Amino acid sequence: MKSITDISFSGKKAFIRVDFNVPFNDEGDISDNSRIVAALPTINYILSKGGSCILASHLGRPKGKSMNHTLSKLLPEIEKLLNTKVIFSEDCIGKKAEQLCSQLKEGQVILLENLRFYKEETAADPFFAKQLSALADIYVNDAYGTTHREHASTATIAQFFEHRCPGLLLEKEINGLKKLMNKPSSPVTAIIGGAKVSSKISVMSNMLNVIDNLIIGGGMAYTFIKQNGGRIGDSIFENDRLVDCSQILALAKEKKVNIFLPDDVVASNEFSNDALKQIVDVNNIPDGWQGLDIGPRTAAKFEKVIYNSSTILWNGPMGVFEMPSFEKGTKAIAQAVANSTQKGAFSLIGGGDSVAAIKKFEFQNKVSFISTGGGAMLESLEGKTLPGIKALS
Ligand code: AMP
Repeated sequence: MKSITDISFSGKKAFIRVDFNVPFNDEGDISDNSRIVAALPTINYILSKGGSCILASHLGRPKGKSMNHTLSKLLPEIEKLLNTKVIFSEDCIGKKAEQLCSQLKEGQVILLENLRFYKEETAADPFFAKQLSALADIYVNDAYGTTHREHASTATIAQFFEHRCPGLLLEKEINGLKKLMNKPSSPVTAIIGGAKVSSKISVMSNMLNVIDNLIIGGGMAYTFIKQNGGRIGDSIFENDRLVDCSQILALAKEKKVNIFLPDDVVASNEFSNDALKQIVDVNNIPDGWQGLDIGPRTAAKFEKVIYNSSTILWNGPMGVFEMPSFEKGTKAIAQAVANSTQKGAFSLIGGGDSVAAIKKFEFQNKVSFISTGGGAMLESLEGKTLPGIKALS
């Protein structure tokens, strides 16, 4: 796979697949611009090398053309962040787009309208992909969050370009994952949490091939505890995943991976920040009570393992960290990951909620790498080859 630095952009038009699928608040303003910010290094790099940029993205899941999902809403924010005028093309293919792109001069930027206004985008339609490719000379994919999707602009399009490469953001993601999956420095610890065991089973079983320690917290821990014969009260659990949990535990034993489960938990009589709470043994949660965070003994046990690790993956919170009453465990783990990183460990944080947690507790600059792709990151950890990355090679 070529790197962006292997390609000459001088006088060339780059089609950059970005992920500008940003969230909006109730007033219709962008509530988090980090996806746009994340694409700036690639755009600025290409402009600085004498190229021009054609930015293409999806926004939401429109059914056909809908002004609710127009990318023109992002134009002021992109112009502000790039500190330059950006031309908007009301269509991503066709005569108008072709005309605007053909007139594009060195240093100029065009934003194409939402790719998903065409159902051909998600259908990975080759004719649609070819029409998109006709707009530019070079293909750059910087949308890590969509590389697990085989869509026209993320995968099919690449074959129509002689020169194609990952953008700086995607390259960083690929390198971060390589550091974790290819001969990582040991001890390697995966911290897996979140609500559901079902969404993380494949990740856990694949990660058992590379890790020394598996820390299991959050709501998903209760299915393991129940499988081990514990009494979990009203805590969240998945009856149909008990067998999977027992298989993970058996596989871990076979692969000599240490498993760390909670010992104590913060249990609550309601799923509410203001409910009554008590610290109880994880194997003895009274009926009517549910575990909503790891307890202090558990946090201390997990912290020790994390502190002695050289490579750390963290995916999923240790409790309902959105509620201040149940944030302590997740915060303690964030702090431990930051401390271990400061001591020299490589730490990778991925998956929407652990990223939200690390930001909430303001540790985002104290870890080695925060992945921008939730689903893509999980599929990489499951050992799958992502279509968007494969298409670049
Ligand atoms: P996931 O998307 O599977 O990573 O799950 C993240 C969500 O899991 C967060 O919104 C947490 O509030 C929730 N969560 C974590 N621990 C628990 C728990 N013990 N009970 C219920 N929900 C939890």
